[in-house]
Amino acid sequence: MEIPSYPLIIIGGGPIGLACALEAQRKGVDYLILEKGCLVNSLYHYPSGMTFFSTSERLEIGGVPFVSNNVKPTRPEALEYYRRVALSHRLHIRLFEAVERVQPGGRGYILTTARGQYEAANVVIATGFYDIPNLMGIPGEPLPKVRHYYHEPHFYALQRVVVVGAANSAVDAALETYRKGAQVTLVTQGPAISERVKYWVKPDIENRIKEGSIQAFFNSRLTAIEERSLTIRTPDGLVTIDNDYVLAMTGYQPNFAFLEGMGIRLSQDALRIPDYNPDTMETNLPGVYLAGVVCGGMNTHKWFIENSRVHAEVILANIVDGGGGRGR
Ligand code: FAD
Repeated sequence: MEIPSYPLIIIGGGPIGLACALEAQRKGVDYLILEKGCLVNSLYHYPSGMTFFSTSERLEIGGVPFVSNNVKPTRPEALEYYRRVALSHRLHIRLFEAVERVQPGGRGYILTTARGQYEAANVVIATGFYDIPNLMGIPGEPLPKVRHYYHEPHFYALQRVVVVGAANSAVDAALETYRKGAQVTLVTQGPAISERVKYWVKPDIENRIKEGSIQAFFNSRLTAIEERSLTIRTPDGLVTIDNDYVLAMTGYQPNFAFLEGMGIRLSQDALRIPDYNPDTMETNLPGVYLAGVVCGGMNTHKWFIENSRVHAEVILANIVDGGGGRGR
């Protein structure tokens, strides 16, 4: 049986995958997006009450205006926006279809999913970094009370919650659960709340810690988690406290096995940055491009929607005008 063939297949239907699709459409390149979850799957799984640090116009793709009630949009507004963009532009997308393998073959590459195979002359990998949490690697981490994703605070009312981390996700989770009646303890390896925390939120968490509403252990890390307690290594020695839930906001990482499996080289240092040409976004595999947050390797703060939506134009310019990529 003949397999469907496209000049371009985009893996990942996040904001940047959608931006690539819009640009392909604009340039007249036939394409298909394959997305393993729902539309903008990562954003769908973000905390329900989150507010973006970017202003709405900086999250726009394809030049489509993003109107929000306040300067910084909320998650529901972003879902509304990206969904409207995808529907109104009739983007070609297959949802709930994860790409399992990419191998050389046919006009360029053969992509295998649970539903079948596709042939693509060019492939854009826009798979983000939100699927694989950074583990603490300590006893008790697999317990169900330990969560690497935080959704909303009500569940944690009247519970003893330990939040691990001191960046935006940790601080949001600590403040929200505290305000819904959780007894919150923050544990972080660093000496202070991260400088990257949203400027309008940082004083809030610092003041809650100062007044003792939220207990904080700096320069500290969890060493073991039990069903009803956990142990923290602090500068003053080991401390064991009663505990009901752990929100380990320790960050996430791209799927390196997926990248390496198709032959993309990664840097040998701890950052594991994929090999790509920043002028074209093409990897060491001809016709395979990276777009969005996946480009940063473990440096997941380097790229975000604001500064990586431009990858769409760079890649399509290379495929169409630059003589790069594979024949359309
Ligand atoms: P993603 O949005 O992660 O999309 C990747 C997609 O690929 C996902 O839908 C995933 O399901 C899919 N996928 C993965 N593997 C496969 C596979 N094998 N097959 C098929 N599909 C696959 N950035 C900003 O610019 N401004 C902000 O204010 C901001 N706030 C943020 C707040 C939070 C809480 C977080 C976590 C991040 C925030 N970011 C912000 C970062 C931003 O959300 C990410 O950089 C952005 O999602 C990157 O878009 P992307 O399309 O590269 O990746």
